[in-house]
Amino acid sequence: MGVIRTVLGDIAPETAGAVLMHEHMIAAWPGVEFDHRGVFDWDAVADEVAAELAAGKARHGFQTVVDITPPELGRDPFFIAEVSRRSGVNLVAVTGFFCQSMGIPYHWRRQSIDEVADFHVRDITEGMVFANQVTSIRAGIIKIATGQDDLHPRPTPVGPSGRHIGDVEDRIIRAAARAQVRTGAPLTTHTDPEDWSVTNIGAEHLDILEEEGVDPHRVITGHCFVNPRIDWLKEILDRGSSLQIDNIGTGWRDLDDEHISEAVAELVAEGYEDQLVISFDRFFYQRRGPLTANDPIVAEKMQIDYMHDEFLPLLRQKGVGDDAIQKMLVVNPARHLAFDPPAAPDAVGITDGSWAAEASPA
Ligand SMILES: [Zn+2]
Repeated sequence: MGVIRTVLGDIAPETAGAVLMHEHMIAAWPGVEFDHRGVFDWDAVADEVAAELAAGKARHGFQTVVDITPPELGRDPFFIAEVSRRSGVNLVAVTGFFCQSMGIPYHWRRQSIDEVADFHVRDITEGMVFANQVTSIRAGIIKIATGQDDLHPRPTPVGPSGRHIGDVEDRIIRAAARAQVRTGAPLTTHTDPEDWSVTNIGAEHLDILEEEGVDPHRVITGHCFVNPRIDWLKEILDRGSSLQIDNIGTGWRDLDDEHISEAVAELVAEGYEDQLVISFDRFFYQRRGPLTANDPIVAEKMQIDYMHDEFLPLLRQKGVGDDAIQKMLVVNPARHLAFDPPAAPDAVGITDGSWAAEASPA
């Protein structure tokens, strides 16, 4: 059955408890790390975040939380590990990149697909790099992302591949896919609401992942309930991917709980309950200065009680049973997060230096 790779070590899947599959301990847009207003009291914020996590565990059994913050959006392995120690909550960290309109720093755009894949594999098997050191804190899940999720959201234009996916994103998705195949780690996706207005973006992701050999059963498609077309959701489910219920209560990009809960109830009624997971997508701490008119809040931070006090009752009202809810919170996440990580980077095909020889003219 494998293990769940947390920032403090591997755990048995049956000990994970209720799992939040997509959260952010610290979220920071690229660049804020050198903004004077973005400087924060690391220790005090670690205490605050740990207190919120501990409350979630005590009140709702959230024993394991996946921090899906990619490195260019402020991933700090030391912070995640420290918050895990202080809260007693298992935390899983991610390797991967955000969408090309906001993330994928220039250095990485210049790397080959296999070099980017090597980076993900090393994050998972060796440890993540932070502040000029290779830590022994390892990632336990891979992320891919697409979409024009910037100041003025709009659908992604059709790229060279004929999909609503940018040229850089296409290569980064292939790298993530190859790392998934090499490690067996779970893979989660960020889709953009604007893209759902023009295409089944979840299916487009699966097209590329499958071309690279990924089994869709290892994939969790995120932010998909903003999409009004339930036939598209079923198409993704029928290919094997799970769907993630997220951003409940926030009203993010016109999402509403009524629509989400109706869609979920229909999917459960049709037998898809083994392919659903649920999370908030909450910024536990957003590293930034004060909010301004030009840079307003992106997503409401929901109370940690919201899921159990408001959303789950709404699901029950629409006929979703407790067994299905247990699957979304406990059974399905444990199955997704469990894998058999390869022991060392050498064993999974990293070829240090060979790319340089290829790149130099003879
Ligand atoms: Zn998120």
